[in-house]
Amino acid sequence: MKMRQFSVIGLGRFGSSLAMTLMNEGCEVLGIDKNEEIINNMADRLTHVVVADTTEEEVLRSLGIRNMDCVIVAIGDDIQASIMTALLLKDLGVRMIVAKALSMLHGKVLERIGVDRVIFPERDMGVRVAHQLINPNLLDY
Ligand code: ATP
Repeated sequence: MKMRQFSVIGLGRFGSSLAMTLMNEGCEVLGIDKNEEIINNMADRLTHVVVADTTEEEVLRSLGIRNMDCVIVAIGDDIQASIMTALLLKDLGVRMIVAKALSMLHGKVLERIGVDRVIFPERDMGVRVAHQLINPNLLDY
């Protein structure tokens, strides 16, 4: 069976943890970050890594990003970069886009662009922990 191919853009705490979990689950992961030091740290943990600024369309094109099964935009603080990256991915025809939002407005813009799933890490984790506290038998989801 062909391994599922993911790309994670932005390898901060959220992105790197997501990328390594996907690796542990047997997926192929292309990690992208504009910070060379971060990429060097992740180089032997992911299938492929590349130093790149994903707000440049040519960069995304040359990486063949549209062939990925799913691309996760894990850039948060730089809202402009997050939005521009999501828009370019959408225009390139990426099948499934997931993006992290830092505020409701940021999330709204990502949804308008057509991002398939918007994640609010702190809010979503709060909901998840509450459910697990109420029902400890609940399977991790
Ligand atoms: P986290 O909360 O997940 O730790 P963070 O606060 O460390 O994230 P963010 O600003 O959310 O950092 O960005 C996550 C990563 O995205 C950083 O490592 C940053 O270098 C990378 N990044 C930011 N802008 C771009 C861009 N235009 N292209 C590629 N990577 C980018």
